[in-house]
Amino acid sequence: MSPVNPSDSSVTYANYNASVAQDAGTGARFVAGYVEAGIQLSALLASMAHNALTILAGVTIGLLIALLLIRSAARAISQPLEQLAEVAHAITQDDLPKDPRLPVNRHDEVGEIAMVLKGVIDGAHRITAKLDVDRTLLSMKVDSASKKLNKAEEQITRTRSQMKRVAYFDPVTGLPNRRLMLEQLAMLMQIAARERRHLGVLLIDLYGLRRINDTLGRDVADSMLREVSERVVDTIRHSDVISHDEQPQDVSRVGNDELCIILHGISAPDDAEATAIRLLAALQKPIAIDDKELQLSFYMGIALAPDHAKKPEELVRAADVAVNHARENDLKAPALFNAAMDEAGSERFQLELDLRKANFDQELVLHYQPQIDTETGRVIGAEALVRWNHPTRGMVPPFKFIPIAEESGQILALGNWILNQACRDIADLKARGVALPKVSVNVSAPQLTQDFVRDVRDAVIRHQLQPEELELELTESLLVQNMETVMERLTTLRSDVGTRLSVDDFGTGYSSLAYLSKFPLDELKVDRSFVMGMESDETAAKVTGAIIAIGRELDLEVVVEGVDSPAQFHRLRELGANIIQGFLFSKPLPLAELERFIVDSGFQDILQELRR
Ligand code: C2E
Ligand code: CA
Ligand code: CA
Repeated sequence: MSPVNPSDSSVTYANYNASVAQDAGTGARFVAGYVEAGIQLSALLASMAHNALTILAGVTIGLLIALLLIRSAARAISQPLEQLAEVAHAITQDDLPKDPRLPVNRHDEVGEIAMVLKGVIDGAHRITAKLDVDRTLLSMKVDSASKKLNKAEEQITRTRSQMKRVAYFDPVTGLPNRRLMLEQLAMLMQIAARERRHLGVLLIDLYGLRRINDTLGRDVADSMLREVSERVVDTIRHSDVISHDEQPQDVSRVGNDELCIILHGISAPDDAEATAIRLLAALQKPIAIDDKELQLSFYMGIALAPDHAKKPEELVRAADVAVNHARENDLKAPALFNAAMDEAGSERFQLELDLRKANFDQELVLHYQPQIDTETGRVIGAEALVRWNHPTRGMVPPFKFIPIAEESGQILALGNWILNQACRDIADLKARGVALPKVSVNVSAPQLTQDFVRDVRDAVIRHQLQPEELELELTESLLVQNMETVMERLTTLRSDVGTRLSVDDFGTGYSSLAYLSKFPLDELKVDRSFVMGMESDETAAKVTGAIIAIGRELDLEVVVEGVDSPAQFHRLRELGANIIQGFLFSKPLPLAELERFIVDSGFQDILQELRR
């Protein structure tokens, strides 16, 4: 065959032959001839139109088949990827699928990724299961802890009510004490004021009791006191004046040898005097104790509200003035307060003036009461207690002038002097090689200002003390006022300055224990009222034990103060107390005597004796 196109009109014989000869290599040798075929365009188109539909259908089907093939190929790749993406998304949504649909059977990269992901999910499931077990265990532990806590709370509530009982009642007579009397008086005075009634306070000074105590001993004095208080309660109960309100609670023991009677429902001073005279008759009858007939000497004073005072403390003070008047003038009849007697009132005023003028360095002095660790036999500290050596009155005890200083604002200057003096004294002892680990300073509520924190820091620095050589005693009631500010200042004192903090008179305030545990404290001082009640009242002993246990529980050092008898000491040791402060070992001493006390260790003999 030749590549020559015979229909090409330019082909001639000559060039045809030439072209065939030229193409001899391809094997084209002969030309047999050629057919010229032709078709007219119109005829061609007509014949094509006839097959057009068939061709279109064929092409379309072909295209569709191609499309389907492409799609299914794409799905084969994208579906496993979608599954992976779904699972990955679920995981990021913290929704770990239990049985994830993953293309793990594939033998390509997708299959490998799926295997890894499955491994991760299985691992996560195992961890979750373990966490669940841990959580259950934990909640079981929390459960049992909260059960224990509830039990402790119950016990604490019970203890608190017992604490109240001990803190509010006199252990010898079972009568309310001064604290409770003042609280009740405040309420009764409010009611009386509202109803425009009079209210009286009658104080009985059992003058002879001191002598009986000194000559016949404490047991006899206590029996005597019990008998007297019973007579008073009986007389009051049968008194016409207040018969409509028969509350033996009206009688209380407000001092060592002082009883107080609240006379409510009286309409005139005469009513109060009538009751007093009935009491006089009842108390003048001799008292038989151990075959002895004893006669008690006593004095009475009366003050009325609103005539003589409008506040409870003032009313009691007015009655006190009246009873002092009766004693000083040896009056057998009850004395009714009048302003002319108010020597004590002017005394208070005078003390305030004198305190303002006082040269602290010359008139004030600190005494120190040692605290002894009975386990180690060491003096572990001493409490600084201020004394006022008044130029004309002599020694004024703190309970007389501290409240005046607090009310008049002088406590700030006074407190700062005490703080610095205490620091100077302990620095002195240290310089002389006397071992006293710390000194405790009492802080009154009004003292705890922002400046106070600075003053304490200054004092510690000025006297070159280790901060833990200084301890601040704060009363429980101070802690309950203004909690946030107090907390902030105490935290600075303890954490920044570094002093130790102790809660004084514990058990007499109103703080809840949960509350107390929030304060940054080092030490708890059991109030003397608990110790006083211990010998005659088993509940008081139990409560003291509970307080000691609470202190331990809160990780506080427990100091028991006001311990003045061996019996108390032994009982306290049984109850787990070992740091003791009280007359048993020593009264508060001037600095030089404290030094001797520590150096000579004289108390070791007492300790030996007690341990025997
Ligand atoms: P407090 O802080 O509870 O001090 C303990 C008081 O109990 C002291 O009385 C102490 O002598 C007395 N005491 C200690 N052991 C016994 C004991 O075995 N038997 C008896 N019957 N009493 C004992 P003090 O020195 O008369 O102080 C009375 C209160 O005056 C103190 O009570 C404190 O509230 C206040 N006070 C004393 N010194 C200061 C002071 O420097 N600053 C402030 N702000 N208050 C002070
Ligand atoms: Ca104290
Ligand atoms: Ca105290």
